[in-house]
Amino acid sequence: MSKRAIITGITGQDGAYLAKSLLAKGYEVHGVVRRSASAEFMQERLRWLGVENDVHLLDGDMLDLGSLIRHCREVRPHEIYNLAAQSFVTSSWSQPHLTGEVTALGATNLLEAMRLEAPEARFYQASSSEMYGLVREPVQSETTPFYPRSPYAVAKLYAHWIAVNYRESFGLHVSSGILFNHESPLRGIEFVTRKVTDGVARIKLGQQKALRLGNLDARRDWGHAADYVEAMWLMLQQETPDDYVIATGQTTTVRDMCKIAFEHVGLNMEDHVVVDPALIRPAEVDVLIGDPSKAKRVLGWEARTDLATMICEMVDADLERVRFESARSKQAAPAYA
Ligand code: NDP
Ligand code: GDP
Repeated sequence: MSKRAIITGITGQDGAYLAKSLLAKGYEVHGVVRRSASAEFMQERLRWLGVENDVHLLDGDMLDLGSLIRHCREVRPHEIYNLAAQSFVTSSWSQPHLTGEVTALGATNLLEAMRLEAPEARFYQASSSEMYGLVREPVQSETTPFYPRSPYAVAKLYAHWIAVNYRESFGLHVSSGILFNHESPLRGIEFVTRKVTDGVARIKLGQQKALRLGNLDARRDWGHAADYVEAMWLMLQQETPDDYVIATGQTTTVRDMCKIAFEHVGLNMEDHVVVDPALIRPAEVDVLIGDPSKAKRVLGWEARTDLATMICEMVDADLERVRFESARSKQAAPAYA
């Protein structure tokens, strides 16, 4: 009998990679999706990975406890992965309340649904390196104190501790992965790596001249989403639930990441990048670098993809996407003429 998993956030970057990975392991995969007026785009990432017809989609929302309870009752999941969130730091300043509701209280809703209807299930909480914020130690591990710097990070910190609390209060199998930034061709276009790789593709293909960015000196520990979803699964295969840092252990500036992308297509970033003060954040996380040694020791996990390989993969995917879009819009033009 195959194991059943529920994934919230299945339409996002990690949800899509995790769904693909679990399907390959023989799981029956159910994903919670919120109703959208643009339903045709909802499954774009699952489609990109070729798994859109292999998952069961459940109509629900992190804010709607009833729908989460019903899905836990009806699916009877062995594993629950809570990936849903308002996940973009910048938007968390313009929508702090919503960010708190979805990212923080949404996790409580899902934990409650599990406690009531599926207490034997195993639960994964998508915690974030943003919780370290104004870093208290030069390299961040599971024991580094947190200092969140945005409403998003504050909401993630609440979700992290409520997950720990449900583990300790009710003896539930709840684990948190404190994941450092991870990217892929499926990363949302608003995040800096994808904004850069999409911009580079458009500049290379003559659709755009400049790329406007904010703080080029920020440093991140960037890994590949496909590697990181494996760590999520490994956490739920352990007898004892626990929290783990998932990172590469390398940190790079936005500037150097950008340079890799431009050089991959033979361009010079200085000719195109414009620093726009409007994109500087009200409070910045200057540097993140994780210590993944516990994950290696206990889970046998380590990052496999280096930054340059990943950025080049993303640029190539964006070149393909932009070429495809422009061919499609040329074909479509006569119909509207
Ligand atoms: P995405 O932003 O790509 O995906 C977020 C998902 O959450 C989407 O499927 C979105 O649905 C869903 N969602 C948002 N609001 C609701 C809601 N009210 N009800 C139900 N679903 C909702 O994020 P990633 O895949 O990159 O990240 C996955 C998780 O990991 C997130 O929780 C993120 O905060 C966390 N994380 C990510 C890191 C990263 O570097 N990628 C680092 C550390 C943590 P819709 O498609 O409808 O918008
Ligand atoms: P985050 O770490 O979750 O906030 O991921 P992002 O990819 O959104 O941002 C990573 C870093 O890139 C942050 O320090 C940003 O300030 C910096 N950055 C610089 N320019 C930009 C930009 O134009 N967009 C975004 N999203 N980030 C930028």
